[in-house]
Amino acid sequence: MSQNGKLIIFSAPSGAGKTTIVHHLLGKIPDLEFSISATTRPARGDEEHQKDYYFISKEEFLHRIAKKQFVEFEEVYSGTFYGTLRTEIERIWAKGKTVIFDIDVEGGMHLKRKYDGQALAIFVQPPSLEVLKQRLSGRGTDSEEKLQERFAKAEKELNYAPQFDIILKNYDLQTACAEAEKLVGDFIGS
Ligand code: 5GP
Repeated sequence: MSQNGKLIIFSAPSGAGKTTIVHHLLGKIPDLEFSISATTRPARGDEEHQKDYYFISKEEFLHRIAKKQFVEFEEVYSGTFYGTLRTEIERIWAKGKTVIFDIDVEGGMHLKRKYDGQALAIFVQPPSLEVLKQRLSGRGTDSEEKLQERFAKAEKELNYAPQFDIILKNYDLQTACAEAEKLVGDFIGS
């Protein structure tokens, strides 16, 4: 197992477009593989188990915390846990690939500290909080209460941008995807 693999961390408030950018990169750069997080939230829309997330029960999540199986985990929203399993990173490095993460801001900073020197941490910045709110509401997948929780968290998270290696503005998706491709390509090749 390689201890020297690279990691690319995409963090942003929910709704900033990081998932779309990460999927774009996965389609373009064969050297990348997505770190599938574990979560206790139910699958949304056409999400698939073991592809988008490992959808597990809260009991299983807590058991895995106790067994120290997570590199990082968080109760991202009250009662809802998300985390990166150590085995996930090892699985991808064993293939000689670079791990790419779609992770919340605190989780991203945590990984950046832990894998200092091996990681590129990119913060995806939405045009404004208002646009972010519109995008989140437009999804139509969350209850009003959950939406309010996501808005509050997003507002707080925007302040963390300067702590990342790079701030990638997502004002126009095509431009952001092209910039992301260049940044990631340069980092992998370095
Ligand atoms: P969503 O429910 O919209 O898929 O994700 C909510 C938030 O949790 C997003 O910001 C997403 O990037 C983040 N997230 C996904 N996986 C992980 C993880 O393994 N650890 C942490 N800390 N956050 C995660």
